[in-house]
Amino acid sequence: MTESFRTARALGAVIGSAVGDALGAPFEFGPEGAFSARFPEPGQGGEMCGGGGWEPGEATDDTQMAVLVGESLLDCGRLELPDVFRRFQRWAAAEPKDIGLQTEAVLSSGDAWDMAAALHFQVNQRTAGNGALMRATPAAVHFARAGRDATMDAARRIAALTHGDRAAWEGTAIFHELVRVALDEGDASAAVPATLEAVHPDHRDRYAVVLAPDWHPDQATEFNGAVWPCLGSAVWALRTTSSYEDAVRAAIDLGGDTDTVAAVTGGLAGAVYGISAVPERWTGVLHVPLPGFGGRVLRVGELAELGRRLSG
Ligand SMILES: [Mg+2]
Repeated sequence: MTESFRTARALGAVIGSAVGDALGAPFEFGPEGAFSARFPEPGQGGEMCGGGGWEPGEATDDTQMAVLVGESLLDCGRLELPDVFRRFQRWAAAEPKDIGLQTEAVLSSGDAWDMAAALHFQVNQRTAGNGALMRATPAAVHFARAGRDATMDAARRIAALTHGDRAAWEGTAIFHELVRVALDEGDASAAVPATLEAVHPDHRDRYAVVLAPDWHPDQATEFNGAVWPCLGSAVWALRTTSSYEDAVRAAIDLGGDTDTVAAVTGGLAGAVYGISAVPERWTGVLHVPLPGFGGRVLRVGELAELGRRLSG
């Protein structure tokens, strides 16, 4: 495997996730098939349409938080959980356009970084949203070289900053591992059974259901803002299409939490197909505001630099 090929996949993951987020955002909470109804022909252009409060190409909280994790990893030279938490808090305090309810509650609780999510979980119990999974791509790229167990462990620890429910940790850990396999030129879909063996036993069966080859998002028992159907839908979209563009279109056409399902799908599909498969008409308008960080707005060149350094 050439090093440049691995880098192309890493950039595909980081940028592909951001593109999915921005492409899906205007369709959030919309009905099934809304994207294809508006853009029937793949490749026709204009799909980065904006709407619902989002500018064309504007990435949402999913990518904003993902960038914060990636920059913390690079600035600290390793995983410093208190630093990640502080960056999240600084961002949340600057009133981003969107923020998950649970994430906001945890980050604004005033509790310590290693207590806030657990305390929130004790009180609320149901906290297995997709809010940790949605921001995982940069860390998945960074920890890929460390191997399966290390990348899955890192995923769990970062997820636990905002999500006290182990189900959210395990879903994020599965995503990390599938990205790792893809960056290694493996078959991410085929890696699901082996990955499930590394999932905490209490959570293995439920993920086995949504990641089974014959599972369809219509079979979901929760809204796709929950971690299980979100991850299952992303893997389904990857399995049932043969390009980055078609995978992301399929994800957005599911309706519901379209920005996040497409961000997760785009991260996986970008890792599989590489940056050359992510259409330039989409990356050209992509931009990621970072509230709380001096008015910074990252464009595709800066995301590419981030991805390159993370995959180092
Ligand atoms: Mg979002």
